[in-house]
Amino acid sequence: MVDRLKKLPSELKKILTIASRQATSSGVKIYLVGGVVRDLIKGKINFDLDIVVESDAIIFAREYANYLGGEFKKHHAFGTATVYLGEHKVDFATARRETYPRWGALPVVVPAALEDDLARRDFTINAMAVSLNKGDYGRCLDLYNGLSDLSKGLIRVLHKDSFLEDPTRILRAIRFEQRFSFKIEKNTFKLMREALGREALKFIHPHRLRNELVLILKEPKPRIYIGRIEKLINFSILDKTPPSKVLGGSIPVDKSIKLDREDFKLFLRIEKTVSFYQEKFKKLKEIEEWFVYLAAILVKLSEPEILQFVESFGLRKEHRVKMLSIKKNLSKIKRLNRELRPHAIYHFFQLLSFEAIVFFYAYYPEKKIRENIEYFLDKLVNVTLFVKGEDLKKLGMKPVNLYSKLLRRLLYVKLDDKLKTKQEEIRQAKVIFRKLKSREDRMMVPVVKTIDK
Ligand code: ATP
Repeated sequence: MVDRLKKLPSELKKILTIASRQATSSGVKIYLVGGVVRDLIKGKINFDLDIVVESDAIIFAREYANYLGGEFKKHHAFGTATVYLGEHKVDFATARRETYPRWGALPVVVPAALEDDLARRDFTINAMAVSLNKGDYGRCLDLYNGLSDLSKGLIRVLHKDSFLEDPTRILRAIRFEQRFSFKIEKNTFKLMREALGREALKFIHPHRLRNELVLILKEPKPRIYIGRIEKLINFSILDKTPPSKVLGGSIPVDKSIKLDREDFKLFLRIEKTVSFYQEKFKKLKEIEEWFVYLAAILVKLSEPEILQFVESFGLRKEHRVKMLSIKKNLSKIKRLNRELRPHAIYHFFQLLSFEAIVFFYAYYPEKKIRENIEYFLDKLVNVTLFVKGEDLKKLGMKPVNLYSKLLRRLLYVKLDDKLKTKQEEIRQAKVIFRKLKSREDRMMVPVVKTIDK
């Protein structure tokens, strides 16, 4: 492996050799482990470096960060720490042994030797280590024949209870199988089936399920992964949250999510829309692609069911709001299937997230809807007024509570391409203000009821 380490980009080499020197001087052993080793052997550079320390990783990482002037973040509960060095990140973990108090629960962890740390890993291809220690720098430790499985393209667990102990590994197996076009080894596949037969995914906290699902949706072409999950697990992973006694009272989602041909056509359209958006609208806000796919899965549920789902899966507030707004606006978007003035198009989209807009573009293949969306992204989304509140104040317009309505109407006139300069905007602002003011004045006049005799 020394040759492969030598081929790494110089900044990564430096990160490793400095860690190695520090290990020698402080008398501890450190190893590169996990996905980075797998990728190194495959000839792929992985910039997420995972280093196992056969000692207290937090102490080691703090010293390392101090030496290199990197940012340091510790995670006490796990005995791990992350050091951020510019665009690189190095995770240090204390070598540990894990025991599972019950299947699906988080493991109990105790410091241990490297061998124990490798024994707790998910698959043989992820259970190799490379020594970063003086004397055997670059030596590969392959206790489970990971090298052989990697060359044969096999995903294999380390022991028979692996999927039951940690059922997230079921989704991880699918992720690596699809990402590398590997095969899940025969016995491993049988164990996976058995675990699924025992509904193992229901043993784990929905947040952990969510994390794995999001990782899958972040892979390129997630529809292929979703297809595999649908085939093997039937998307029942989203059917119900685990029993509430395990979770301390989370709300179960009762509705099954059945994905059909139409859904897979939608995933494909999302794929195309996302590339189109990234290509044509580079200057606009980057979108979270995984979220658009999740929306495509959840949109089949009713609003209360979506709410239950996002709560039990612990989506962040920002994502909950975005998800519900997609559902709420789904049928309204049909009204965009006609010729509309620019301000009306703007009115439709102004409060929607870019993820929602990309989703609607993919969801509705109707030509006019798509033209209107493109027009919004191309011509309208960044239009702003020259006139600001202070300008209105200087013009002596009162009361100020009319300003937001006034500015919105002014923007709508501008969007319809009727205003070019600040002077024109000011002229138009005066007209709108007069109208708003007289309407307000009229509303202030008390209504006197006349009684017919
Ligand atoms: P990726 O390329 O997607 O980052 P990775 O293998 O680096 O893949 P991580 O989730 O970063 O994946 O995990 C790093 C390593 O930690 C894995 O290679 C594996 O050895 C171990 N690991 C991660 N999750 C589990 C798990 N659920 N069970 C056992 N070992 C795990």
